[in-house]
Amino acid sequence: MPIKYHLDTIPVWEAFEEGSECPLCWLEAKAEKQYIEFYLGGSVMEPDNRIDVNKKGFCRRHYALLYQNAGNKLPVALMAQTRSRQIMDELAGMAPTNTAAKRSFLGRGSVDSVEAVITYIEGALDSCVVCDKLDNSMKRYEYTILHLWQHDESFKGTLMQSKGFCLRHFKDVLIMARDIMPGKAADEFIQAIWPVQISNMQRVQADLDWFIDKYDYRNQDKPWGTSNDALPRILLKLTGRF
Ligand SMILES: [Zn+2]
Ligand SMILES: [Zn+2]
Repeated sequence: MPIKYHLDTIPVWEAFEEGSECPLCWLEAKAEKQYIEFYLGGSVMEPDNRIDVNKKGFCRRHYALLYQNAGNKLPVALMAQTRSRQIMDELAGMAPTNTAAKRSFLGRGSVDSVEAVITYIEGALDSCVVCDKLDNSMKRYEYTILHLWQHDESFKGTLMQSKGFCLRHFKDVLIMARDIMPGKAADEFIQAIWPVQISNMQRVQADLDWFIDKYDYRNQDKPWGTSNDALPRILLKLTGRF
């Protein structure tokens, strides 16, 4: 295994015991909540954290979560103030002189300069300290799943009996297996996890089929079975948690 991540076995076991449609979504929700609380707390005013937030800011989702969860809006206001100042400074230094120079040369607006501004803005919108931290946590959890799979027989059994993953995290687990497992172990894992994923997607699909059939008046009085919450569960399978 060329890349090494830290193992984090306790939360991974917890997530599988929880029995949700995607244990990685469950872990991601928990980690995201902790990071949002962290950035709403006092320690975010420490210089290292301030520098990080000024440099990267937050993505759309995480600005929204910070704003919605802030009892006291001051920490969010302070972080937005310095981040916005940074972006304004950088943007202000980019366009006008370049555009003027190119315009006189080419006789029209500078494509290069606009491209640079667009690239800069795209980067600024995408960059997010919470996403970066979440990404690290999720890689650690995926790594732990694969490590446990290789070294812990009882976990192997748990994974085989599990409900699989959402499509997003199924893909991430396959990528992690491809990247860190030796070829033979990766093949073995992928062949074992495949039927687990497919059969669980079929299970939720069958629940959704009955959920839809229940709209037929002839099925009105028949029992829901396990189909009551089939729609949120299939949406989770399709895209991961919202
Ligand atoms: Zn997921
Ligand atoms: Zn984010």
